Amino acid sequence: MNYPLVDLKAEYMVLKQEIDKAIEEVLNSSSYILGPNVTRLERNIAEFIGVDYAVGVASGTDALILALEALGVGAGDEVITTPFTFFATAEAISRVGARPVFVDIDRKTYNIDPMLVEEKVGEKTKAILPVHIFGHPADMDPIMDVAEAYNLYVVEDACQAIGARYKGSRVGTFGDAACFSFFPTKNLGCYGDGGMILTNNSQLADQLKMLRSHGSRKKYYNSILGYNSRLDELQAAVLNVKLKYLDCWNIKRRELASRYNNLLGNCDVTKPFSDPNVEHVYHMYVLQAEERGQMVDYLVSNAIGTGIYYPLPLHLQDAYKDLGYRVGDLPVAESICERSFAIPLYPELSIIGQLLIIDKIKSFF
Ligand SMILES: *Cc1c(COP(=O)(O)O)cnc(C)c1O
Repeated sequence: MNYPLVDLKAEYMVLKQEIDKAIEEVLNSSSYILGPNVTRLERNIAEFIGVDYAVGVASGTDALILALEALGVGAGDEVITTPFTFFATAEAISRVGARPVFVDIDRKTYNIDPMLVEEKVGEKTKAILPVHIFGHPADMDPIMDVAEAYNLYVVEDACQAIGARYKGSRVGTFGDAACFSFFPTKNLGCYGDGGMILTNNSQLADQLKMLRSHGSRKKYYNSILGYNSRLDELQAAVLNVKLKYLDCWNIKRRELASRYNNLLGNCDVTKPFSDPNVEHVYHMYVLQAEERGQMVDYLVSNAIGTGIYYPLPLHLQDAYKDLGYRVGDLPVAESICERSFAIPLYPELSIIGQLLIIDKIKSFF
């Protein structure tokens, strides 16, 4: 693959000296789990996003599970979410014993359609879980209005959107809690698994700190049942190095996206939409094409990486057969799953590389 979908090695080569040094310091410190690097990262990210508390955990998936559990979401509850996301979003709802209720998406932003949320609110609804998909913030104002009207929690799945802004504020500042992932390919990624929960609620932060470490505040005294879901020092040290560059990287991503948007002008593809109220961080650059299969095959045969996000919406997954959804229930999400595909976009992608990718897409048409 001459032009892979993402190139993690390219990023490492740029930061090698700084990262190697940070890793070596951790190795020499003999403090490997929940040490000073994690504490510093929690402080840095809380400040970067603009919230009071941050709790580092083992993954973005765990961030979602722990956030829902700490808010008391569990058996018998329903959580309203989007079917057009990575499986972990709904999986976390199910893992705490609640039931995901899927709402169709907006055909431009691919995020949960806020106008369809209220009609799904019922007696059992406990929370809304919007996802800021591909780095484009969900339309939070109407979502928060419904949450307020019906006294529901809001948990943001911001795993793909760290740094993005909605009406001037970073995503992660709107809900009762917000969940982030540091999976290597995310806009801020580590070299393994990692995640974080952000909140302005001190009691919730305290509960989350217990949950991530066996329900214990004081070692060998366990107040509640918890998990082993901690962020380790090596990953936190790497993330502390990378966080300094995140805003620059996100600007680069927007520049690359805008070049794609301009130069793919006449091609018969639907380009990603960016609402004027938001600052998109383009975790993925996702196009839609009628003849997606041929398009993807053509690009791959020309050594250009592609990815399909997502081939099957969550309401039609085998794991959710029991929820009773059928083909046609959420038509927008289903039609986008048949047409969408991502092309390479990462901060280190060169202009020459990008122009070649654009040329190939044009020559397909
Ligand atoms: C990556 C991702 C997750 C899960 O994060 P992990 O760190 O891989 O567990 C959850 N939701 C969304 C939308 C994601 O993109």
